[in-house]
Amino acid sequence: MPRDPVCGQYVDEKTPFKSEMDGETRYFCSEECQEEFEFGVEDDEFVEPVGRSPKEED
Ligand SMILES: [Zn+2]
Repeated sequence: MPRDPVCGQYVDEKTPFKSEMDGETRYFCSEECQEEFEFGVEDDEFVEPVGRSPKEED
């Protein structure tokens, strides 16, 4: 049984929440986990903050 890489839960392979990356398929328990994985991982490749100010100091 595949495991959700985000929260660690075991998930059914028939889940609609899955993502293929580098020839590997990851399965998720929910859309939230899938999004967190897709947008949270590989930060290095997406370090162009477009119109975003991550930290503002007063
Ligand atoms: Zn999950």
